[in-house]
Amino acid sequence: MEIMTEVVILGAGYAGLRALGVLQKSKEDIHVTLVDRNDYHYEAADLHEVAAGTQDQERILFDINDVVKNDKTTFIKGNVVNINREQKVVEVSDQPELHYDYLIVALGFVSESFGIPGVDENALSMVDVDQALNIRKHLEDQMAEYTRTQDEEHLKIIVCGMGFTGFELVGALVEAKPTLAKLAGVSPEKIKIVTVEASTHLLPMFPEKLADYGTKQLVAWGVEMLNGKMIKAIKPDTVVYQDSEDKNDLAEVTAKTIIWTTGVRGSKVMTDAGFAEKRGRVLVNKDLTDPDFSDVFIVGDVAAAMDEASGRPFPTTAQIALVMGHLAAENIIHKVNGEATKEFAFKSLGTVASIGNAHAFGLVGKTTVKGYLASVAKKGIMDKSLLETGGFKEVLSKGRFDFYH
Ligand SMILES: Cc1cc2nc3c(=O)[nH]c(=O)nc-3n(C[C@H](O)[C@H](O)[C@H](O)COP(=O)(O)OP(=O)(O)OC[C@H]3O[C@@H](n4cnc5c(N)ncnc54)[C@H](O)[C@@H]3O)c2cc1C
Repeated sequence: MEIMTEVVILGAGYAGLRALGVLQKSKEDIHVTLVDRNDYHYEAADLHEVAAGTQDQERILFDINDVVKNDKTTFIKGNVVNINREQKVVEVSDQPELHYDYLIVALGFVSESFGIPGVDENALSMVDVDQALNIRKHLEDQMAEYTRTQDEEHLKIIVCGMGFTGFELVGALVEAKPTLAKLAGVSPEKIKIVTVEASTHLLPMFPEKLADYGTKQLVAWGVEMLNGKMIKAIKPDTVVYQDSEDKNDLAEVTAKTIIWTTGVRGSKVMTDAGFAEKRGRVLVNKDLTDPDFSDVFIVGDVAAAMDEASGRPFPTTAQIALVMGHLAAENIIHKVNGEATKEFAFKSLGTVASIGNAHAFGLVGKTTVKGYLASVAKKGIMDKSLLETGGFKEVLSKGRFDFYH
């Protein structure tokens, strides 16, 4: 009798679900156990819209059981707490230990405070659906508080960190201004958005002219940008930053809403389980295996795959997570069949940053796209992700062919 190969996938994000899709289609005798702390998959790249209230959470998530084939896969809802790679065992809270022949680690990202004091206590982060919903509720509560107190601090929002995530969040917040203003009973211009960012060179993934275009759009829409200002601490309702080259030259900006989008790192499980990680990311082999254990594949935001062209690891993106998940699953099938594994390669579909629902800018191939058409390109890229994790059923059920409604 042939022995079934047991593959355990940790994390049902972009990378984990893409791997699941490939393994479920394989003809080999493989059983998969998929573990996630939620019973739904969410599109992390759309969290900013849920936080700003411009998109309902139902539109960016679906039930994991919708994509699980019961004859091939067992789904376990639980929190992964440790991985013992010597024993080939995973510890999931309140569950029996899971044994594997091959493991795919796809646990994604968490917020990074860089040790800056007060971040965890005094700023809101946005790395999962609950946190995004918390931001939305917090904003609505502030509008209600304004009607009671008339204190304009409740109408102010500070976004810390203007990387890709911060940028897209600010775009969505600009779009949310009329709705928030209505709740507060004020005109939209009264809602103030301030950003604080250490760098003066924003969005380095784009040519400077294009990054400038995006920045100018936000400024034209009333966003106040404090660039080149290193954040030193977050105090209650206050961001403390260095105002000039002089380390002692500190200044403050205040608001009742402070959102932290300054950075992310890979899951803490990577550190706790003793992986050779740096900020939760492991520099993987070319076939995406762990440098220490060839039966462990590491994919998505917990992996750093070297880009030979730039000499630096590829960035952490949903697009790359999908390609990694696909390859890890294929490489497990190769290993099961005694074949050589394949190396990771990536060709970008394009990088497009949204500024609200109907405006965006970026690069598709080498072509610069801006405005409404760019937002169509962005939604096309996002729908491709949904297609690759959830399939046609999810794209249709989320109404995602209806781009603007
Ligand atoms: C606001 C925002 C906008 C973005 N925009 C873009 C964009 O436009 N384009 C792009 O390509 N990328 C974008 N990204 C980046 C992209 O979302 C990430 O690179 C991507 O989500 C990584 O995929 P992943 O599968 O590695 O992890 P994730 O999508 O983070 O999935 C990880 C999964 O693991 C589960 N999990 C985590 N820890 C545990 C645990 N201990 N136990 C059990 N389960 C656990 C989580 O519930 C989750 O389902 C954006 C990110 C953000 C936050």
